[in-house]
Amino acid sequence: MATDFGFTTWGADIVRIAEPITASVPNASAPSARRIARNNGVTLEIDGRQVTARVHRGGEASVARLEIAAMESAVVVALREEMGSRTEPDDTVHAALRARGLRPAAALEAADCSCRARKTMCVHVLAALYALAALVDHAPSTVLGMQSGQGSADDADTDAVDGPPPRWTPIAALSVRDYYVAER
Ligand SMILES: [Zn+2]
Repeated sequence: MATDFGFTTWGADIVRIAEPITASVPNASAPSARRIARNNGVTLEIDGRQVTARVHRGGEASVARLEIAAMESAVVVALREEMGSRTEPDDTVHAALRARGLRPAAALEAADCSCRARKTMCVHVLAALYALAALVDHAPSTVLGMQSGQGSADDADTDAVDGPPPRWTPIAALSVRDYYVAER
């Protein structure tokens, strides 16, 4: 399959959370998690930096919660400049930020899950990350909304990106499922 998870730089950043370069061995749950996300097993709800993922696997349902770290203000300012009139931050914008020595990659501040696996990166959290990566691949502005705290009250000063109105609000309600249907 030509397009897996993380085919944009913004989506790849999310995949990196699931598969850190620093990990010496791959997470054994990663293949299952990818399969769940690919088979429409994850429904995402995004509210600012809080991501709630309903993960269905066989007859079981778990709820994984992710909290995305706020974007550094220097990155927000540079991003505003590099985006110009774009409505979606493409790979060029990502590269421009990196060239300025900035790190636009999304980071995970916290994660938990309703399942009994008492580890941070259970298969459900991983599946949520892959589903999120797929969503971000198709709509990179999603990640900006999350990182700048759109939808929450605590980062009011970072909300005002110049240019066209932000398009991330409606995306919050979408299931990642629609994107896979569209690809086939
Ligand atoms: Zn879990």
